[in-house]
Amino acid sequence: MALLGSTGSIGVQTLEVIKSHSDRFEVEVLTAQSNAELLIRQALDFTPNAVVIGNEDKYDMVKDALQPQGVKVYTGMSALAQIVEMDTIDVVLTALVGYAGLIPTIHAINAGKNIALANKETLVVAGELITKLASSKGVNIYPVDSEHSAIFQCLVGEFHNPIEKLILTASGGPFRGKDREFLKTVTKEQALKHPNWDMGAKITIDSASLMNKGLEVIEAKWLFGVEPSQIEVVVHPQSIVHSLVQFEDGSIKAQLGLPDMRIPIQFALTYPERFPSNFPRFDFAQYPSLNFEKPDLETFRNLQLAYDALERGGNAACVLNAANEIVVDAFLKDKVGFLEMSDIINETLNDVNFVKQPSLEDFIETDKISRIIAIELINKHNK
Ligand code: NAD
Ligand code: MG
Repeated sequence: MALLGSTGSIGVQTLEVIKSHSDRFEVEVLTAQSNAELLIRQALDFTPNAVVIGNEDKYDMVKDALQPQGVKVYTGMSALAQIVEMDTIDVVLTALVGYAGLIPTIHAINAGKNIALANKETLVVAGELITKLASSKGVNIYPVDSEHSAIFQCLVGEFHNPIEKLILTASGGPFRGKDREFLKTVTKEQALKHPNWDMGAKITIDSASLMNKGLEVIEAKWLFGVEPSQIEVVVHPQSIVHSLVQFEDGSIKAQLGLPDMRIPIQFALTYPERFPSNFPRFDFAQYPSLNFEKPDLETFRNLQLAYDALERGGNAACVLNAANEIVVDAFLKDKVGFLEMSDIINETLNDVNFVKQPSLEDFIETDKISRIIAIELINKHNK
């Protein structure tokens, strides 16, 4: 397999899974953006055929450490896109964050590689293009995201039975139940404290703002081919029920377990088999009650913005994603407030030209222009 983004939260947990089944998996490629030290340690441990370090300033360091060990070392975005085409790769696990996943994923699909998809942003930006390309190439996309893995697991044995409704669970994040007055002044330190999951910074902020759930609604549409009106979000603070599927007879199936990403990572790599694991087991005695409530779309506007972008189609979700990446980065640098993030995403959606049937070039252009506009809007807000 190729593991894109091996130094991140999902990347590191994927390597744990691989290590526990080293007789069944072989790592051919590891990639990282800037954490050269960890990439080197991982490569010495897993001896891949090749690694890619995104940050060119770190190239010499990685090359000096790994070339003598017989590991090929590359740098730059085009190397990242090409490396996934290697003959010896069967599956590409996309654990890199954001829009950066789009082009490497397209290259992997074009080369006929199955995708284990953690990088939800790729499906948000260009879901229709990606899913059409995958089906034309006979490529499977296996979800890594816990909610989508849950749905996928509920659908095993049900592939000919129509879905009535998908129910995505959301933890609600650290600010569940808070009002706009409270959210006005929250800091990045508060937002980075997720109650149930330990994840990368971007997705942790997205979870606090409910944008993560918005992105997941869009991801679900493309993975499972349902209409937006068939996707419901329910807040479930314990993160034990990972998501549910309702069928046409009214029956609902759910998948449960402790919040542990190694389970969906492993299932994406072993489907249709289940390999054994020694991950901690769920114990009902520890969870005397599981709660469910409606999401607050007025306080957490991002979820509604994502539904609207999905409904609109075209390049709208690409704009939403790009503006979100910019505002999250700005929030992490204390340049925008928590609530302003939704304002700027909304204004960017209004400002960028709508393209009804975007080509790949249109998506690339939309991403670029949306980022520029979102940055301008942030500067204007700060004046
Ligand atoms: P992270 O920030 O911990 O790791 C990101 C990885 O991508 C790192 O290895 C980094 O080097 C690499 N990277 C960052 N920017 C890059 C760029 N521009 N080009 C190439 N590589 C780059 O993120 P994460 O939490 O592991 O999340 C990764 C993806 O998985 C995201 O799309 C996220 O939404 C999704 N996801 C994560 C979790 C989780 O529990 N962490 C759960 C579900 C889905
Ligand atoms: Mg998720």
